[in-house]
Amino acid sequence: MTPPVPTAPPDLADLAAVSARIGADPLLIQGAGGNTSVKQRAVMWIKASGTLLAEAGMRAIFVPVDLPAMRASLAAAEARADRPAEFALPGVSLRPSIETSLHAVLPQRVVIHVHCVATIALAIRTDAREVLADRLAGFDWAFVPYARPGARLAALVAAARGPDTDVIVLGNHGLIVAADTVAAADALLSRVTAALAAPVRPAPGPDTAALAALASAGHAPAAIASAGHVPAALASAGYAPAGADHPLHGVATDPARLALALQGSAWPDHVIFCGPGSVALRPGETPADAAARHRARGLAAPVFILVPGQGALLRKDAGAGALALARCLGEVLARVEPGVAIVTLSDVETAELLDWDAEKYRQSLNAV
Ligand SMILES: [Zn+2]
Repeated sequence: MTPPVPTAPPDLADLAAVSARIGADPLLIQGAGGNTSVKQRAVMWIKASGTLLAEAGMRAIFVPVDLPAMRASLAAAEARADRPAEFALPGVSLRPSIETSLHAVLPQRVVIHVHCVATIALAIRTDAREVLADRLAGFDWAFVPYARPGARLAALVAAARGPDTDVIVLGNHGLIVAADTVAAADALLSRVTAALAAPVRPAPGPDTAALAALASAGHAPAAIASAGHVPAALASAGYAPAGADHPLHGVATDPARLALALQGSAWPDHVIFCGPGSVALRPGETPADAAARHRARGLAAPVFILVPGQGALLRKDAGAGALALARCLGEVLARVEPGVAIVTLSDVETAELLDWDAEKYRQSLNAV
């Protein structure tokens, strides 16, 4: 007989309320990113993979996992530690987050992990550790350089923290706070995000007329013909200018931001939802030409196209997750100070996020 699903801890509803609130803030959470958890003796309740924190008040997004089994698997460095579904308790249909192991290695009862744009703006810097030390003086914190989300990252977090560390900044990724109550974790998140906050730098506004003209020219027959070998699933429904106050415009109109975007992907969800890197329109190209150039690499049509000096175009049929991550790029780079050097994900790191082998990724880069 299947054992019953364990009773949820009394403060799971409180965690759901906090999760729904932070999940609705695009400066903290984009799409299905981020996750929260609460431990109750041998069971850890964690957000399910692919669910939205913003929906925590409307539907059951938390799944119970066998905490001692997962910790033992992590400690033994077993391959299955990277398959959190194997630790879900019987009777559960949703799969635990791929980041379950990050929560399991922390001793505190309540863990909140966010992709806070102000944190990311610091965590992508080559001097992240130094600048964070300045901002987080007074917190018991640790910095963990980038690793793919999963058991390997969890092991690095476990090794980096002290006995009472309750703030972890993940390089090129985001922020974790931990406490023994939901209220204390929520309050800590507020204090840390306030300490890491940065002003949004102004950028020249978009040239909306020029963008609209480009978008309407986006389906030149020659461009479509040249991409004739492309499967229909990779074709796109065309592009439209982003809304007038969209933060991605600043990435196209501010040369410093554009250079950072074109340096490569700087956090994993960008790769997963928007594909690797950013695409800028070349002189004389239409959006369809740029999309065809991208598709020739075996990639889906870009979610967004940056038009240098003019602004950003968004793919008309982009999904909510892709749009959230496109906005995230604008929000993060608006908070990076001029002259700052950033770290971007390597080809190997990008390929492993796409579940490609590195060779396939390198070939895609060299296809044009
Ligand atoms: Zn994350």
